[in-house]
Amino acid sequence: MNVWVAVALGSFVAVVGILVADRLKRRRDEAQAYLKGVRSIVSGDPDAAIEALSDAARLGTPEAIDTYLALGALFRREGDLARAVRLHRNMLMGRALDPARRPEVERELAEDYRRSGMLAEAAELYARLVPGDVAAAEGLRDVKVEQGDLDGAIALQRRLGTAGADPILAHLLAARARAALPGDAAAAVALAREALSAHPSSADAFIALAEAEGAAGATAAALDAIGRALDADPRAAPLAWPGLAAVADAAAVEAFVAARATARPQDAGLHLLHARALQRTDRAAEAVAAARRALERDASGEVTLAMREVLREAAAPGPEDLAARHDVLVQALLLKARAPRCQRCGADAPSRAWRCRRCGAFDAYA
Ligand SMILES: [Zn+2]
Repeated sequence: MNVWVAVALGSFVAVVGILVADRLKRRRDEAQAYLKGVRSIVSGDPDAAIEALSDAARLGTPEAIDTYLALGALFRREGDLARAVRLHRNMLMGRALDPARRPEVERELAEDYRRSGMLAEAAELYARLVPGDVAAAEGLRDVKVEQGDLDGAIALQRRLGTAGADPILAHLLAARARAALPGDAAAAVALAREALSAHPSSADAFIALAEAEGAAGATAAALDAIGRALDADPRAAPLAWPGLAAVADAAAVEAFVAARATARPQDAGLHLLHARALQRTDRAAEAVAAARRALERDASGEVTLAMREVLREAAAPGPEDLAARHDVLVQALLLKARAPRCQRCGADAPSRAWRCRRCGAFDAYA
């Protein structure tokens, strides 16, 4: 509710400002209508707030626009997308909307569409804004990712690109490499290398490279790439498993992860990887011991979350491992684990990911 109070306070200041700045009766009436909208916000009646907007839109002050943009952002943050759409459409219909502020409102509406899954509508609105509008180009890029058009997203990002490393381009190319993987490991290797030339220390790109090299049968190259990913970003360990799983030689993977875990014994993520590698070589009892080490060392709770997922997906243990597996499962469930929270939209993720599933931001987790 703090956000509501903040919006209301900001609005109140705006109303006072309007009243002080302009003594004309017309302006006072407009401010009254505006205040009515603000009161509806405070009393938790958002529909009345949107209704009052039809009056307030005549106001045409920057403060009114800011308030309603804040309200729209609040609706969206709370997942109330239908209201956000209605509010932004109302704003665009208001004749008094300053033409200079119009693109901003259109971008907000496009974002509402995107979050609602109305990707075609979002793309159309963004595309109209794109020439000369960087924020709209970024929005269109995100829509293209969600439409599965990675090539389109990559082309847009290249045009947006700044000098120097481009982590977003690296993520997009890594995703493109994975998309190529089922059929064409060589193309996937080339794309992953391209991702690394966009951002030479991208853990995502190194892991994609490992997945591709593993699929191509290049065990040493795949393990080398995983090592580089973990060196570049130790927090990427819970995301590194697909790269290790792609390597056919399960014993080589286990030896590699064991050496890593020995070198960094306090790294919970490495013990998690080791547990999975041991499980894959049918050393169930040792896998449970490694899982327990991972849980004991997990400071952030993230490895615990990942462990719950692994245990959920794991095949049923043999009768002799049942008790140990049960114990580690209970331990994983009892440990407090707060979900990683997106720093852009505030959404909780079930576990660490490269991209926030809700708002589409890359590298959104601390
Ligand atoms: Zn997010």
